[in-house]
Amino acid sequence: MGTIATVSVPAVAAAALPAHRAEVACRFAEIEASLSAFRPESDLGRLNAAAGGEPLAVGSETLAVLAAALRAATASGGAFDPTVGPLMAAWGFRGTNQIDAPPMVAVLAEAHSRVGWTNVLVLGHTASLRRAGMRLDLGGIAKGYAVDEAWNRLRAAGVTDFTVNLGGNLRCGGQAAPDRTGWRVGVRNPFDTSQVLGVLILQDGEAVATSGNYERFVTLAGRRYAHIIDPRSGRPVEGLAGVTVLATTALDADALSTALFVLGPQAGRQLLRNYPGCEAVWIPDSQPARLLATPGFARRFVPQAGGEHRIEVLSE
Ligand code: AMP
Ligand code: MG
Repeated sequence: MGTIATVSVPAVAAAALPAHRAEVACRFAEIEASLSAFRPESDLGRLNAAAGGEPLAVGSETLAVLAAALRAATASGGAFDPTVGPLMAAWGFRGTNQIDAPPMVAVLAEAHSRVGWTNVLVLGHTASLRRAGMRLDLGGIAKGYAVDEAWNRLRAAGVTDFTVNLGGNLRCGGQAAPDRTGWRVGVRNPFDTSQVLGVLILQDGEAVATSGNYERFVTLAGRRYAHIIDPRSGRPVEGLAGVTVLATTALDADALSTALFVLGPQAGRQLLRNYPGCEAVWIPDSQPARLLATPGFARRFVPQAGGEHRIEVLSE
């Protein structure tokens, strides 16, 4: 999935780590085989190639992720859209499309016309993209799905205390240490990614995901554009450096971090009302760092001592 995965356990349980790692790596490889956009023979590769044509039979893994992506799209009013592929390509986020300036209006309009989650059909064990040239991009949700799957597998194997982290999508089990403190997860400073702004102390089963403008971006005509597209404008979202979400599953954390990056704090808070147990923080793209936190996030957050940043609690 083009990123790094880690499994952590308390030091006293370190002997079992190679076995856990193998278990998780195996599950991730299965998921990647179905969902990689880079493999023409994967379900996703076949669906994209068949866009505009007949429905294709796809595996249960693909169906599960597509269903979750469509739920996220519905819930977010389309801020989360798993069909942003053509816009990602238009903005140079695929190796095959090297550009050095933002796309022309006509190019953007053409790509935009091939985006729209309501044209994804899932029926029984088949799926299809209704318009030619559509392209699924599950980069905003597949890692969260994969982390939940790995989490379930470790739990089923009797592992109680662990974290699984796939490219900034983390879910924990149990405790970090025999003294029963929860796992501590840092929220990175987007302006200096070697530093944390503070930590969250997680409860059993909780997940955290971050969408950041520093993770993946293109530089066009001297300006940096983040890898999250606002499906309404067809343009990369500007003005935010990062969004971190605390949720009850890695899938929700992943989909929400992307959707809330698009929606911003105001509309984002409305979306969160439908997700009990989920909290978020938005960090605007201007220094010194300001954290716009939901009240629940602020309650759970332990700021780093001596930091320059301000925490502003959003009203309920
Ligand atoms: P994340 O880091 O989880 O926020 O995911 C970002 C990735 O999701 C991007 O690299 C794209 O592959 C994809 N993506 C970009 N914009 C959107 C969007 N509005 N809805 C869903 N996925 C998106
Ligand atoms: Mg995401």
